[in-house]
Amino acid sequence: MKKSIRVLFIEDNEGDAILEIDVLKKGGFEVIYERVDSPKALKEALEEKSWDCIISDYALPLFTGIDALMEFRESGTDIPFIIVSGVIGEETAVAAMKAGAHDYIMKSNINRLVPALERELREAGVRRQNKQSEDAIRFERSLLRTLIDNLPCLICIKDTESRRIIANKADVNFAGYRSEDEIAGKNDNEIFNNEYGKRSHAADLVVLQTGTPQINYEEEISDTDGNRHWYITSKIPIYDSLQNISGLVAIAHEITDRKRMEFNLMESEQSLKRQNLEYETLNKEYLSLNEEITESLDRIKKMNDDLILSKNKAEEADKLKSAFLANMSHEIRTPLNAILGFASFLKNPDINRDRTDEFVDIIDASGHQLLSIINDILEISQIESGHISITMERVNISKLLNELSVQFKKEATARNLDLVLNINNSAEDIVTRTDGSRVRQVLLNLLNNALKFTHEGKIEFAARVARNQVIFYVKDTGIGIDPDNQAVIFEPFRQVETTITRNYGGNGLGLSISRALVERLGGKISVNSVPNKGSIFSFTIPYITEKQPEVGEVRATPSNYDWKNHVILVAEDEIYNYRFIEEMLTATSAKVLHARDGIEAVELVRQNPDISLVIMDLKMPEMDGYKATELIKNLRPGLPVIAQTATVFNDIKEEGNRAAFDEYFSKPIEMKVFMQVIDAYLD
Ligand code: ADP
Repeated sequence: MKKSIRVLFIEDNEGDAILEIDVLKKGGFEVIYERVDSPKALKEALEEKSWDCIISDYALPLFTGIDALMEFRESGTDIPFIIVSGVIGEETAVAAMKAGAHDYIMKSNINRLVPALERELREAGVRRQNKQSEDAIRFERSLLRTLIDNLPCLICIKDTESRRIIANKADVNFAGYRSEDEIAGKNDNEIFNNEYGKRSHAADLVVLQTGTPQINYEEEISDTDGNRHWYITSKIPIYDSLQNISGLVAIAHEITDRKRMEFNLMESEQSLKRQNLEYETLNKEYLSLNEEITESLDRIKKMNDDLILSKNKAEEADKLKSAFLANMSHEIRTPLNAILGFASFLKNPDINRDRTDEFVDIIDASGHQLLSIINDILEISQIESGHISITMERVNISKLLNELSVQFKKEATARNLDLVLNINNSAEDIVTRTDGSRVRQVLLNLLNNALKFTHEGKIEFAARVARNQVIFYVKDTGIGIDPDNQAVIFEPFRQVETTITRNYGGNGLGLSISRALVERLGGKISVNSVPNKGSIFSFTIPYITEKQPEVGEVRATPSNYDWKNHVILVAEDEIYNYRFIEEMLTATSAKVLHARDGIEAVELVRQNPDISLVIMDLKMPEMDGYKATELIKNLRPGLPVIAQTATVFNDIKEEGNRAAFDEYFSKPIEMKVFMQVIDAYLD
């Protein structure tokens, strides 16, 4: 295959050119050519086209082969330039070679052209390649340098002794030098002359000796001015073609800003944590405050509810009290009217003995009715102030029920009602320790109510013992109580009927007194009732058996007693009260002495050693009953002193005990009990 070649002929003689082309063709070339014969044409041909070689005549009419060579060299083209000449002379040849011709061939020896051209083409190829390699190396160097100088890192290359060979601008500046030349040949220890210098130099030596690269380690470096910087550094060994370590490259990338940000971040993180903790504590405080507030709110709400409740209760109590007062006024006025009315009749001297007795009976009954109302009011006051006095004694319940049965029989019959005491007469009497008068009081209330609220049918009452309790009931076939009212009738002043169009009378205190008494005795009271069918009131008291002498029978009147051998001193400043007691005592044939105050009483005891008992009023002028009793007890410790008072509340008993009374009574005095007690002390 023919080699194609582009040849530029510098030749004025076309025949010569054809001859040379022939030679080349014969030598195996396919020739593409152009022929120029002036400097201008040569210049244009070099500028406009590319050529593989130039074959030039030496002597041309317009210029010489040397001129052509000058032009060729100026163009910078590096292709074979061969001079072919008919003229030969050593000087010419030397001049041509000096001027840069690659070969000089005589036209007579034209056959040398092909081998010379082939050789020169080869050499030109080698030259071109070398030039290309050099260019590439130069380019790479400059690229590397540009990179080294412009990367935002400290970069240096060190030799096997850790001395700088290359250092970029940043490295030079950081080391405090002005130029790369100044720093060249120095190691870090020499450059920095501080802790960092030593540390870095030692690290260099480790990399150089072990060949182990150190990649991306963080280090704190103080520059030559003492400013702190942080860098991420890598030190990588460099190997020569024989794989020996020939140095290292060190690259350090500054991370001071990042580090500062990290520090700031850490600081703000810590302050955030601190703040968080503070918030947490605050939060806890708020939570507990919240709880407290919620609790307070709940308390306030409860207080509010309680207040509303109390208000409602107060309003209700108010209503009840008004109703009670209206009712009370009615209840008190009724017997009072009778007393006053019939007492005024008694003043009439013309009325006969029978009518007088009748009027006295009415007055007596009305007086008792009034007393019972007042007693109820006093009792409820005592209950409300928490004072209910109880005297435990051995009580025959069966006997008590029998007495009540007898007591109520007459009234029941008068109202056309059956009264049934439902106890088994053959069974043993129920006897327990309790306050008999209180149990009687409760039963009286219940029986009175049963009578009052029953128009036809029967009233049944009974007691039995079960599970250590005495269970009483009073059952009637009366008007009954609707369920709503059953719960409230035990409250003071509660009546099913509250209007003034009342049919039944009463003060609404009986059941609340009864409940308080039963509870005080250790039991419970309840009601079971169906409207228009009837009611069952039942209550319990503890069943306490104790073999003790029974309280003696209450004898009916003072005249049943015989105290003629006794002297009784009555200390009482109120003359009517004294007269009442004197009346009772003289009926027993006792001798009665009267003292109008405490001093007189003490004096009379001193003067009369035969006094067997003293009845002592507590509130008296000059010296009260407490003091007088104390002095009397000093004179005669064994002399019984029985106190009596009109004081309502129950502190009497305690005070009485303190003053060493043997017994006490509240006024008005219940004659039967009074006589019985005195009798017990006189025996
Ligand atoms: P009082 O009988 O003086 O009104 P209580 O406290 O004894 O007062 O009774 C309260 C109310 O209970 C009576 O007013 C009456 O409405 C009702 N109550 C009591 N006992 C009976 C009963 N056996 N049958 C019907 N209602 C009764």
